[in-house]
Amino acid sequence: MSGENCIFCKIVAGQLPAKKVYEDDDILAFHDINPWAPVHFLMIPKAHIPSMAQLDESHQAVMGKIMTLAPSLALEQGCRPYPEGGFRVMVNTGEDGRQEVPHLHVHVMGGPRPWAKG
Ligand code: AMP
Ligand code: ZN
Repeated sequence: MSGENCIFCKIVAGQLPAKKVYEDDDILAFHDINPWAPVHFLMIPKAHIPSMAQLDESHQAVMGKIMTLAPSLALEQGCRPYPEGGFRVMVNTGEDGRQEVPHLHVHVMGGPRPWAKG
């Protein structure tokens, strides 16, 4: 299932470039084009899910995979270890949540302060 004109679906399909961090059959992780922090990548389900608001029980496995993989990818990408280091995870959802790209994505941000934003 793919969203028409969805930029993240186009990245999944290889129609738009991305600096990939991780990929398997279900998920893709790639660097944010406009990073807030020294480490800033996005983790997405490959299937087009518009936002967290559409999640149901059928998404438990893919969302569980994203959340449990985030810490090791964060370390690989240069986040310092917990607790001195760590990282921030953010999922903007809907207009009030300031979501800009309507394909569910989990921001993972980290690295030494100060950050550009956040
Ligand atoms: P959000 O406000 O949570 O929807 O954030 C969308 C994020 O996607 C922003 O941080 C953008 O910098 C990022 N973004 C938009 N287009 C691309 C792209 N082509 N490749 C990588 N990141 C992107
Ligand atoms: Zn999409």
